[in-house]
Parts: sequence; structure tokens; C-alpha cells
Amino acid sequence: MKILIVEDERKTASYLKRGLEENGFIADVAEDGEDGAYLAQTRSYDLIILDVMLPGQDGWSIIADLRRRQIATPVLFLTARDAVDDRVKGLELGADDYLVKPFAFAELLARTKTILRRGPVRQSQVLNVLDLELDLHRHRAVRAGRSLDLTPKEFQLLSLLLRRTGEVLSRTLIAEQVWDINFDSDSNVVEVHMRRLRAKVDEPFACKLIHTVRGVGYVLEQRS
Ligand code: CA
Repeated sequence: MKILIVEDERKTASYLKRGLEENGFIADVAEDGEDGAYLAQTRSYDLIILDVMLPGQDGWSIIADLRRRQIATPVLFLTARDAVDDRVKGLELGADDYLVKPFAFAELLARTKTILRRGPVRQSQVLNVLDLELDLHRHRAVRAGRSLDLTPKEFQLLSLLLRRTGEVLSRTLIAEQVWDINFDSDSNVVEVHMRRLRAKVDEPFACKLIHTVRGVGYVLEQRS
């Protein structure tokens, strides 16, 4: 079991790392938000222990980014704050549990084991249609055994289409989901990215999966 500790207080971080390793876990430490976000997005962990107040990027935005990218690694928040609002905010953003500093290591260990026992994810990590496969956790897209080289936006776009296979998605909905809410409806950002995505996902293959529904939007499905 591999755990990522994102904590800027060195003493706390090394105390946690040592304790977890003594209990049979493998633990990596990131000392600021940017490193933490990078590791969380690019490597595979069974759990992330995430401090809220961090230099670079705070814990809230790290977890929000992860969940937006469909990375469902469980997160245990660690923070000096104990306001109910913060707790609710953390859980709404997709945290699995919340621990207020100072805490006893035994408590952290017990919570860690509970989260890990629940299983790694709330949703399936691998989506597939026909010969197209998307591994959300590893951030990998494969078609007919060939790895697809997608940008992060293209990956998000494809995972949205795949999660809602067979459903026609409007440009507005796609823009909201992939580019957040600040979307200029005159912009052709969705069309441009969709064209690039199709060039990678569909063009080299005989069977097309992404289809345009004129005047409405796009749908991903297998059509015989
Ligand atoms: Ca901190």
C-alpha cells in the first residue's frame, strides 16, 4: 500500500512517514502544494494524506483538481482548522475523511486503515467502449492496444464522453464540465478540442466512436 503525504511541516511529515513505514506502508512526502499536486496526478497511490494549508497550492484546490480529472484516490484531510465549514467543504470536494491537528498517530493509522478497507475508489477506474479504454487512475488512454497521446484537456473531454456513453452532450454542457463555468459561448474551444481528440481517437481506426449530432452536440457510442 502506497501513501502520499502532502505536508509542509517537516517534523509532522517525517513523523508520519516513519510511523506509516513502521506499519508496513510505503510513503512519499511532498513538502508543498505544487509537488503534492504533481505527484498525486502522475503517480499511483492508495491514499493521499493532505494538509489544507500549504505553500504553492492549498489542499482544497489540490483535491478539486484531482476530482475534476477523475482521479479518485482516497484523501484524508489533515488540518489545524476545526471549523465545521471546513470539514463540510473538504467532504463536499471529495475528501474521504478529516483529521484535526493535533492528533494521535494511532488515530491517523485507524482512519487510514478504515479508508483503505473501503476499497480504492467510489467509481470504476477503467472506462471502455469497444476497443477504447481509459484508465482514470493512471491517466492512460488506449485504443486497439495502442497508447493515445492526449493532452490533459483531451483526456478530460474523452473521459466525460465515455462516462456518458450513448448520451448526446451539448457544447454548453461539455464546456461547463471540462472548462469550468467561465465559458464564452461564442468561442469554438469545444469544436477545436473535439477535432483534435477525434484525430487521435477515431481517425486512425475503421470504427468511429465519436459522432456529431447536428445542432445539438456530441455523442460517443459504438454504431454498427
Ligand atoms: Ca501546513
